[in-house]
Amino acid sequence: MLEVKNVTGGYDSKPVVKNINFRMNAGEVLGIIGPNGSGKSTLLKFIYGSLQPEKGKIFIDNKPLAAFTQKNLAKKIAVLPQQAESAFSYTVRQVVELGRYPHQKGWFSSNSKKDEEIVYQAMKETGVLSFADQPIDLLSGGEKQRVLLARALAQEPDILLLDEPTNHLDISYQLNLLDTLKEWTKSKQLTVVAVLHDLNMAAMYSHRILLMDQGNQRALDKPAYVLERSLLEKVYHARLQRKEHPSFPSPLITLEPLKNVSELSSDLLDTLSINEREEAVCITSPFYWKTLSSAVIGEGFGWHRFFVNRHVDKNYNCDNPAEEYASYLQNISLDTADTAGMMTAALLKDGAFVQLKDDEGDILVYATAGTSNAVDVSKAYEKESLPFTVGTINIWIFVDGKLTEAAYAQVMMTATEAKSKALLDNSIIDSDTGTAATGTSTDSMLIAASQQGKEFVYGGTASPLGKKVGKAVYDAVSETLENYKQRKKENGKWE
Ligand code: ADP
Ligand code: MG
Repeated sequence: MLEVKNVTGGYDSKPVVKNINFRMNAGEVLGIIGPNGSGKSTLLKFIYGSLQPEKGKIFIDNKPLAAFTQKNLAKKIAVLPQQAESAFSYTVRQVVELGRYPHQKGWFSSNSKKDEEIVYQAMKETGVLSFADQPIDLLSGGEKQRVLLARALAQEPDILLLDEPTNHLDISYQLNLLDTLKEWTKSKQLTVVAVLHDLNMAAMYSHRILLMDQGNQRALDKPAYVLERSLLEKVYHARLQRKEHPSFPSPLITLEPLKNVSELSSDLLDTLSINEREEAVCITSPFYWKTLSSAVIGEGFGWHRFFVNRHVDKNYNCDNPAEEYASYLQNISLDTADTAGMMTAALLKDGAFVQLKDDEGDILVYATAGTSNAVDVSKAYEKESLPFTVGTINIWIFVDGKLTEAAYAQVMMTATEAKSKALLDNSIIDSDTGTAATGTSTDSMLIAASQQGKEFVYGGTASPLGKKVGKAVYDAVSETLENYKQRKKENGKWE
């Protein structure tokens, strides 16, 4: 058990650590984060007793630090300092063996069988066995770091203090080290206090995080509470975003470049150039738009500046449409990474563009519709199978503004409702059930926002953005359906 109580202190009269308080139980990982010079390393020095605080006390197993001899303290606490001391001429094994010193009786006692076994295990767990007999000064920074960790481990401490332990490590060793530490907290009931530079690593591996700011304890809590955007922006003086990790329950902090302002200031929708051909409609932008889509190419969230709606035969059938589409893009010299691409069997000349501009922000909607596979979604469950043909209603919505993730979800919802209403008002029927169709079996949608200028937090029907999306999508889908119907009337043929 480690307790830090009202600890204040520094190097001369000026305290660089101010009134720090926390208590840790066995098996816990505490991550310490904070800008350079915020007192993180100094706080660790207080905890391992190399520096005395001016005020406050540190307790280990309820005993004040001062009550421990240096050797007894070393049985309790091991340290991996920020600046690795140079231990030239020692071999790796000798360095790790130094970790056994606190457990040995006299000054010159030799290593026991038990010591040897522990040294071996420590080297094995940190992956340094293969260079056990090499001089440590010949190793790379990362390898040295692992040797020092092995030494700390050989000390068999209850508490391990680490000061930026992942600094010299490549990402795989960073993960390895932190995974190993977390594992030790369980298997050895090890308590870990780690100063970590990388906020995301701190979030993934710490039970709690202590955020320091100019010596003060700014926050001490679970990562989800401490890694809060406005707090971090204040403490670090940086622009950042808080996301959620895609596959692990942990926050994810992403940084934004200081200069993120586009040269293009006026109407961003006007910078889009539209190229309509029979085989594809391409919209090209001079900058990247943040998109959320169900496109074949560039699905999910992404950043794109080419938008392709490609006409394919209604019997288009392919095992791997994404691969086939990518080679199509290569043929027309578009970079797949920069492209959001959809397909449709609908004729592109029936497509419709609707632009709505007002003081509340501008949007552009593009839609194409083929309704041969129109379906009533409420009855789809009762059908045996739905055609995976590419009939399809494709809808693109460009918004000149910044959307939150919630706004993307709401715009998607609003647009889907508007599409269904357009189908209803145009009497599109599910041919199997004879009921009103709500869409087709393979519809796609894309929402692209410039992520510059006005911020939209909502895109639901009640919001100014939602109202425009509702109208523009309804009008665009209605218009493309009308074109489709008109042509059908003219040549008596559905595509
Ligand atoms: P961090 O580890 O958060 O980057 P430190 O604890 O190393 O910060 O430093 C906190 C403050 O104490 C800084 O202003 C630093 O300049 C000062 N400091 C650090 N070490 C010493 C030292 N040995 N003597 C005097 N001042 C120091
Ligand atoms: Mg430091």
